[in-house]
Amino acid sequence: MKKLRSIEKIIKPGTPHFVGDGFRVHNFIPGSSTMKRMDPFIMMDYNSKYNFPPTTVPKGVGVHPHRGFETVTIAYKGKIEHNDSAGGGGIISEGDVQWMTAASGVLHKEFHETEWSKKGGEFQMVQLWVNLPAKDKMSKPKYQAIANADIKKVFLPDNVGIVEVIAGEFQGGKGPANTFSPISMLNLKLNKGAKASLSFPTHYTTSLVMIEGIAIINENSEAFEDHFVLFNSDGETFTIEATTDCVILVLSGEPLNEPIAAHGPFVMNTQQELIEAFEDYNTGKFGSLN
Ligand code: MN
Repeated sequence: MKKLRSIEKIIKPGTPHFVGDGFRVHNFIPGSSTMKRMDPFIMMDYNSKYNFPPTTVPKGVGVHPHRGFETVTIAYKGKIEHNDSAGGGGIISEGDVQWMTAASGVLHKEFHETEWSKKGGEFQMVQLWVNLPAKDKMSKPKYQAIANADIKKVFLPDNVGIVEVIAGEFQGGKGPANTFSPISMLNLKLNKGAKASLSFPTHYTTSLVMIEGIAIINENSEAFEDHFVLFNSDGETFTIEATTDCVILVLSGEPLNEPIAAHGPFVMNTQQELIEAFEDYNTGKFGSLN
């Protein structure tokens, strides 16, 4: 019998803020002290369901840099268009995931997709920053466009739900994302009444986001829609019972246990590396993007 992983806290969505004019987000992993706690995850912006009116000028965030980590975007509702200075680009549609390795540095921009913008509608997405090990921070940028069709689906017994494996492994199903350190990213789609049990190595930093619905965690804690559940690293297994139909994003990763020096869009290991990041950005070494 595996040991139970207890809940450290359940965090309700705080006051949202806008990133550019296209992302209305609750910040679940803010600031440097939280970065350390969430290692290897360093930032999470969650755009809970929000209705954007139709517009001919797509909303979003203009050209900006990143260095030292990966940005992972999961689209639940709406469509996002992405372009970066390393030549990556594409449209992230509902159910798709974009895994961008900024590493040594990219410029990118993130906007609502043009045709989607013209109609407008409900928009919901997660953007997660995943830290890179020191040895990989200055590696070449890359881009993984993961279409929903390429995400491994594990069907739970008795038709109670589906686990989409984006990264890592669940019951023998392996996710398509290539990661630099051990990470599991699962999207659980549970029918009302479904029970599921998930296990990760005890020391892995583990959390979940209630994207849709309400569930009981570990048989005693109720987690509501748009809430973030952070687990202690004190056991392997936690349980979920779906009170309603649910969609739940589960994250678990092995801590890198390396120093973090972070400022804005750069997450490095030392202050000196941060200064270099600003210098390289200011002298055009991140390439160009219009
Ligand atoms: Mn960005």
